[in-house]
Amino acid sequence: MLPDLEALYISAAVILGVLFGSFLNVCIYRVPRDLSVVAPRSFCPGCAASIRWFDNVPLLSYAFLKGRCRYCGERIALRYPIVELTMAIMFGLIALEYRWDARALKWAFFEGLVVALLWTDLEDRILPDELTLGGLLAGLVFAVFIRTPGQLNEIVLPGSRMLWQSLFNAGLGAIVLAGPIWLLGAIYARVRKREGLGLGDVKLLALIGVFLGPENGLLALLIGTLSGSVVGLAYIWLARKNASTYELPFGSFLCVGAALVPLIKRL
Ligand SMILES: [Zn+2]
Repeated sequence: MLPDLEALYISAAVILGVLFGSFLNVCIYRVPRDLSVVAPRSFCPGCAASIRWFDNVPLLSYAFLKGRCRYCGERIALRYPIVELTMAIMFGLIALEYRWDARALKWAFFEGLVVALLWTDLEDRILPDELTLGGLLAGLVFAVFIRTPGQLNEIVLPGSRMLWQSLFNAGLGAIVLAGPIWLLGAIYARVRKREGLGLGDVKLLALIGVFLGPENGLLALLIGTLSGSVVGLAYIWLARKNASTYELPFGSFLCVGAALVPLIKRL
């Protein structure tokens, strides 16, 4: 009997997700430090020993080494298996939801971007331009081939070609999401003479808007802000952080919202 093609496709997506997650882990550590993501090969941040291929197998090596470096015993960040597992689940869900549709490719790419940004903001409070601006450009290219979702184009540009609808939704999404936050930040900086909201958050919002379009982008913003408020306040209270000085990784929560939308809705 031939193996079920559908099951084969989803298994392949899961394995691809693990491998992509492994590459994202390299990006999450190196991009905020301005290091190349291709060379040198993986090394232990504790003892700088180069990591052999058999200690670099996604998920399995972490389990086999019990989360410690073979040479110096330094803990390997739990982020490594978490990101690999997250991407495996996301790619599996995308394959299930979008099947052979070209949109699967767009959302897989988008999920990778926001998962990487979630972690760079969480670990280093950085949303690197390479990921935000680079992702925004990639989003515009995707918008040329795959329609950015939205309904407002029907009112403004009724009966127009798919390409113009898509670019309209992408552009409007970026403006609707990033515009108000950018304006608030500019006013705040003028009045208080210091920077409140980082420009990184503005670029991240523009990126989310280009991929998701205005309506779904706002849904991502809503999920992100709500989860950020609840989790952030709980963390400040439980970890006894100083609420006036603790810097909440707002971008990470935006990424959670953005990552969930294409998985809970078929866009
Ligand atoms: Zn080591």
